[in-house]
Amino acid sequence: MRIGWNDTEEKMKKVRLGRTDLMVSEVGFGGIPIINLSMVEGVPLVRHCFELGITFFDSANMYGDSEKKIGAGLESVRDQVVLATKTLKRDAQGAAKHVYQSLESLKTRVIDVYQLHQVANQETLDQVLAAGGAYEALDKARSDGKIRFIGVSSHNIRIAMEACRTDCFDTVQIPFNFIEQDAKDELFQVAEEMDMGVIGMKPLAGGVLERADLCFRFLQQYPKVVPIPGMRAKEEADEIVQFYRTQRALTDEQRKEVEEIRSELGTKFCRRCEYCMPCRQEIHIPTALGIKAFMKRLPPAVTIAMAHANMKKAETCVECGECAEKCPYELPVPDLIKENLALYRAYVKEHT
Ligand code: SF4
Ligand code: SF4
Repeated sequence: MRIGWNDTEEKMKKVRLGRTDLMVSEVGFGGIPIINLSMVEGVPLVRHCFELGITFFDSANMYGDSEKKIGAGLESVRDQVVLATKTLKRDAQGAAKHVYQSLESLKTRVIDVYQLHQVANQETLDQVLAAGGAYEALDKARSDGKIRFIGVSSHNIRIAMEACRTDCFDTVQIPFNFIEQDAKDELFQVAEEMDMGVIGMKPLAGGVLERADLCFRFLQQYPKVVPIPGMRAKEEADEIVQFYRTQRALTDEQRKEVEEIRSELGTKFCRRCEYCMPCRQEIHIPTALGIKAFMKRLPPAVTIAMAHANMKKAETCVECGECAEKCPYELPVPDLIKENLALYRAYVKEHT
């Protein structure tokens, strides 16, 4: 499919999303932060992004009413945008139900890219690809004309690569920012060989990186990766688009700043890759270590509803150290669990 061209063509450069042959704006829209906005705020923001020239919008069934805001904001320009969304369901029946929900929420007859969300380990990959697994439902939805292409998302680069090698997927979505650069070696090469579209989630490391200028200058060195920053206000969208309309290379001074931030955060930043799992106390370690990002990006009620059960489990950490031994980034996981737990307790006290 070729996207219909209109005046947005002039506003932002388009790139080809791998073998889907979809042409999308070189920076897309990530659907998480609009969860924080009301419909009255969120819908015009989506529309504003389109008017700036953004034509690639990514969401997920699990992102609250994000799909509904995107659907309402883009219904009248549907033929000029590319819509992507995802399901966490692992079985065919559940995934089929989510496809229909997404079609309704996004107000469209067909979804361009439907992704299997957060495929974190080999067991999950095997499960979704097995008979009766979620992939079967997406394959049928594709045959029925409900979706056009099938993608996969993962924080675990090794599993994302395994998924690419199955040749079942047209796109792969992985975290990519100047703290999380693991994908740039082998995964980008595999994706290139398979002609897959690469979608870069968390261009600001899930809100951990505050220097948007450095983040986007870094990303512009990888024009085949389509980053999908989340945006909460028109000003944020304006700023990001402006980065793509001006000078592209990092200066020597900016490179130095990037390296400084990398070495400062490198010892504490959890990449959510799950190499440290499973935990003997069944703590979901990346969620416990990522609690600050939840607190920053989501409303308190949503954060507490999503994280509370896991943070209760985090209280049972016996400091066995097995997770720290498995973490390839040598993070002091038990200490970080304690640190994040203290932050979370204070947060709950403040907001309940
Ligand atoms: S140190 Fe704590 S978090 Fe890590 S594996 Fe042991 S119990 Fe789980
Ligand atoms: S603690 Fe280490 S291994 Fe575990 S998810 Fe974070 S970065 Fe990955």
